[in-house]
Amino acid sequence: MGSRRTALQRSSGYDPPPLDLPPLFQSSPKPLAMCRWLVTKFLWPQSMLWIAISVVTYHFLTPGLDRFRSLDVIDVLVLWVRNAALMLTIIGGQHWWLHIRKSQGLEFKYESRWLSQGRKLFTFNHQTRDNMFWTLVSGGAVAASFEACMFRLYSANSIPQIKSVWLIALMTFAVFWIEGIHFYLNHRLLHWRPLYRSVHSLHHRNVNTGPWSGISMHPVEHLLYFSLAFVFVVVPGSPFVATFCMVYLMLSPSPSHSGFHRFVVNEGVNFHGGDLFHNLHHRYFEVNYGMLLLPLDKWFGTFHDGSVEAHDELRGRRQSNNDAAVGSQSEKYC
Ligand SMILES: [Zn+2]
Ligand SMILES: [Zn+2]
Repeated sequence: MGSRRTALQRSSGYDPPPLDLPPLFQSSPKPLAMCRWLVTKFLWPQSMLWIAISVVTYHFLTPGLDRFRSLDVIDVLVLWVRNAALMLTIIGGQHWWLHIRKSQGLEFKYESRWLSQGRKLFTFNHQTRDNMFWTLVSGGAVAASFEACMFRLYSANSIPQIKSVWLIALMTFAVFWIEGIHFYLNHRLLHWRPLYRSVHSLHHRNVNTGPWSGISMHPVEHLLYFSLAFVFVVVPGSPFVATFCMVYLMLSPSPSHSGFHRFVVNEGVNFHGGDLFHNLHHRYFEVNYGMLLLPLDKWFGTFHDGSVEAHDELRGRRQSNNDAAVGSQSEKYC
């Protein structure tokens, strides 16, 4: 553990074992093990929870499709209030449990320090208030507007719509994979220097993340992030799938940014919480742009599994980039 700490200098807290690729994408692909991994590690419990919350949200907390025959600002406002209520409950609940009540102390916490207060870097000089502001005001509003646009298109029969419950279930499952590609592509774009400086750096203020950091993003990043729903302008989907996209995108980043690898319910009982894969992206910036479900980072050479070897490889890459930059500077002055 000691030498590991020295190598991964910015991990000052809980240091989980290195990540494994999903079984289908390991050097010898294992399709059966992949099915088991999908059910026991990916779907249960978090992904199933997002689906269940979406079902309740769509059937009980969302205006009927009829209301969207015309696009009324009141309906968008209703969706915005619904989004804010959902996020205050689910994200706020995790924040309260982990960071206010400190129910499990620092157990399983990636960083041994708590969230920042009184730092000028953050809006209102306070990390949680900053994160809540961008999440609820910008994130909630963009998600509501995009969902209303999709409902408008479905109510006018302007885009392909599936009606079979089985096909809707299949498409709901497909959203996880489509998002794997969509998120990777827009995230790579956001790390293009001009966009990083003006847009994505707002999210990366959070090196030590909390549940509210998940979609604490610049409004331009929210536009890109929630544009996932517009995939279903061309791919057959349904109004439920549109709602699921929004609920999933709003809520799922909260445990993954919670800062805690596992959530402790009581002594000896804990379950999967944070996402080491994305936590490493917040620590080292130029690794792990996508998601583990579809390991595009492995295929494009930016995968970091949290091991000392991966860290040394990253350091070597940074060093050779620096050497190349210095080399080209000295050539200029020869
Ligand atoms: Zn993040
Ligand atoms: Zn990033």
